[in-house]
Amino acid sequence: MTGKRKRVGLVHVYTGDGKGKTTAALGLALRAAGYGLKTVMIQFIKATECGEHYAASRLQPYLRIEQIGNGFVTGEPGTPAVRHAAHALWTARSIMVSDGADVLILDEINCAVACGLIGVSDVIALLEARPAHVELVLTGRGAPAEVCERADLVTEMKARKHPYQQGVLAREGIDF
Ligand code: ATP
Ligand code: MG
Repeated sequence: MTGKRKRVGLVHVYTGDGKGKTTAALGLALRAAGYGLKTVMIQFIKATECGEHYAASRLQPYLRIEQIGNGFVTGEPGTPAVRHAAHALWTARSIMVSDGADVLILDEINCAVACGLIGVSDVIALLEARPAHVELVLTGRGAPAEVCERADLVTEMKARKHPYQQGVLAREGIDF
């Protein structure tokens, strides 16, 4: 780290239908971890292990990935998916307010809202609870307008071409 003084953190949103949202967040995480910033990614939706989990285990204690979403995306009240999403949100808030992360990435949180697992008001409450030094990154398709309005940086990945359209399935080490 270049200095002990707390930095000023910003809020990023990576959204859109093109590939690159989670990988952009992981790129940021790699960069932050390189400077010894405490970096935590909470995955709201995915259920399976992927390359980033193995890489994070080699970058401890600077990069930690917690997978809390259970992979299901129906928003019926009381379902496991809704409980997992609520737990992910609670975990994010706890990490933030206990100074557990300098960079906090909430992967697929936008999808969790779009699927009705959590409310937009929950995300806004989280933004309002953000300590000034925390860099907060929210990824996933369909970012709510209210969240984008409150963010400092919004990037929309636009799908122009994807190998999936040519029948190329997700590849280990590249897509997961
Ligand atoms: P990545 O994790 O590769 O950065 P992403 O976070 O932008 O992708 P998601 O919306 O989270 O994309 O989609 C999850 C999966 O779908 C990933 O394996 C990703 O490679 C793939 N994907 C992303 N965009 C597209 C697309 N336009 N068409 C088909 N598959 C896609
Ligand atoms: Mg993603």
